[in-house]
Amino acid sequence: MLENWVVMPTCLPLVRRRCHTCASERFRANGKFRVNANHKVIDAWLLALCTVCGDTIKLTVLERMNVRSVRPELLDRLHDNDPGLAAELLQDPVVRRRNRIALDWDNAWRLDTGGSDHLDRDVIDVSVRFAARIPVRPVRLIAEGCGLSRAEVGRLITEGNLVSAVRLSGRLSGDFTFTLKR
Ligand SMILES: [Zn+2]
Repeated sequence: MLENWVVMPTCLPLVRRRCHTCASERFRANGKFRVNANHKVIDAWLLALCTVCGDTIKLTVLERMNVRSVRPELLDRLHDNDPGLAAELLQDPVVRRRNRIALDWDNAWRLDTGGSDHLDRDVIDVSVRFAARIPVRPVRLIAEGCGLSRAEVGRLITEGNLVSAVRLSGRLSGDFTFTLKR
């Protein structure tokens, strides 16, 4: 039987960028946007606050766009400070590149294993799905999901009792499957 695990975001990831006021390197988006429409030209930013001093930075979402070229649905969501939109934009590689930011997902996700029945079985096949592209170590996920230490997971890999089509030692942010024999 195939087990289905899901890596789920629990809140917005932190934004990694150096604060010019206090030299902290983490900002928290609070889901608020600022929109500036001037005649037919529109700019929009996602606001983020320094986690130490509270200084605000603006992350560019739209830059001098013609209002008519922006989808009305997107405009509504910007004006409504749609919290889901902040999550979508932070996960958009184009937005991250444009603003030269990276994300910090520590403490912003959880692993949902759908119960503990699999803990008793000798052999389990697990499909891991990522609800967002959250970079995590498979070794850590498997240890948490199977109630093992990371050292035990490492030993199972070495012994050939934990196998996958992907490399389990680095970080992943996309779906994968594995088979574990105890
Ligand atoms: Zn600061």
